[in-house]
Amino acid sequence: MSNQMLETRITPIAAFADNYIWLIESQAAPGKALLVDPGDARAVITALRARSLDLAGILLTHHHPDHIDGVEELLATAAVPVYGPRDPRMPAGTRPVGDGTVIEFSEMRLAFETWAIPGHTLSHVGYVGHGALFCGDTLFSAGCGRLFEGSPEEMNASLTRLAELPPDTRVYCAHEYTAATLRFALAVEPSNDSPRRYGAAVAERRAAGAPSLPSTISIERTVNPFLRCDRPAVRRAAEARAGAALGRSAEVFAVLRSWKDGFR
Ligand SMILES: [Zn+2]
Repeated sequence: MSNQMLETRITPIAAFADNYIWLIESQAAPGKALLVDPGDARAVITALRARSLDLAGILLTHHHPDHIDGVEELLATAAVPVYGPRDPRMPAGTRPVGDGTVIEFSEMRLAFETWAIPGHTLSHVGYVGHGALFCGDTLFSAGCGRLFEGSPEEMNASLTRLAELPPDTRVYCAHEYTAATLRFALAVEPSNDSPRRYGAAVAERRAAGAPSLPSTISIERTVNPFLRCDRPAVRRAAEARAGAALGRSAEVFAVLRSWKDGFR
């Protein structure tokens, strides 16, 4: 197999306060680009022009405005395929994908498999391919999305599934939240040295003006409390917080998630 790292180039377009719109290029078709969750058309158009790139397709993870609001304006500039969950709240013309749907961009020689990962929203999907995961607002580095529609059981199952991806899978989240999520990770597991070390590396990247992302599945398994609900230390912290013994790991997850909701 050819070198996956050389086949694609994935770069962020910063939008709004802390969103990243991910731009995917392929060596097979220089000058073409895919976008993930273009919530802000202006930011995208500026970036594409500056780099002389033509839009070739759009992948959407979920219906929230900061992920889809740029689509209509972008389609007015280029008639490209848009893929996203089967949900009436998605932009008109979105080609629906479901769990296991493979999306191919043959000229760019790219293919992504769709994973249904409910929790943040019920129809949320992620895209997996070329050693990368685009997980929208489901998995954040050292954290996870809020439960706007799904249950703790659903989100815990989605995150558990993502955690089983190969350890070197690069994780492209839709927001720069890492510094804040790491503070929570350390509150949950003060004796885990990994979030502290990772936090120092992240602070260095942020100080240099670079994104903290991508992360990797391997990093997330060591620093992200939401992927560590089966660890005794995480369970103990959740039980102390709840003031009660907890059962399945989804119950541990539920306590962590509501703890994080009020964490400052
Ligand atoms: Zn969202």
